Amino acid sequence: MERAACPCGRGDDERLPSEFLIAHDDHWSVVHAYSSGLLGWLILQPRRHVIHLADLTDEEAAGLGVWQVRLARALAEELGTPKAYVAGFGESPGSHLHFHVVARPADLAQDRAGPGVFGFLAAGEREKVSPAQRAELAARLRARLAAH
Ligand SMILES: [Zn+2]
Repeated sequence: MERAACPCGRGDDERLPSEFLIAHDDHWSVVHAYSSGLLGWLILQPRRHVIHLADLTDEEAAGLGVWQVRLARALAEELGTPKAYVAGFGESPGSHLHFHVVARPADLAQDRAGPGVFGFLAAGEREKVSPAQRAELAARLRARLAAH
C-alpha cells in the first residue's frame, strides 16, 4: 500500500526501535512502550499519520478491533494477565493517534487500577522495567503473534 510519509515518524517502521517492534500489518504497528514501569505495556498505532480516531478509514477501523483483541490474548498468554486495559488520549498537540494496550496485573495496587495505571509512566517508575526485559517480552509476543 502506498502511504504518505508520517511527519512524526511514529507510523514509519524503519524508524521504530526494532527491539521493541512487535508486529505490524498494512495499517497498524505494535511496539512495547519505551518508557513504562509496567511490563506488557503495548502501543498500537496506525502506520498512516492520523491524529483523530474519527479520521481512520473503515479498513483501519476494522483492523483496530482485531489488533486490540489479538494483543489482549497474547498478553494474557505470555503474562498470565486475563485482563487488558485499552486507552487512547493523545493530549499532546498533533499527537499521532495511538492506543495503550496494557496487561493488567492480577495483583495491581488499588491506586494503580483503572486510570491510575498511567502512574507507571511517571519519572522514576519508568526505570522499573529494564530495556532488556521489554525487549525479551517483545520477542516472545512477536513469536506468538506470528504463530497465530
Ligand atoms: Zn505520525
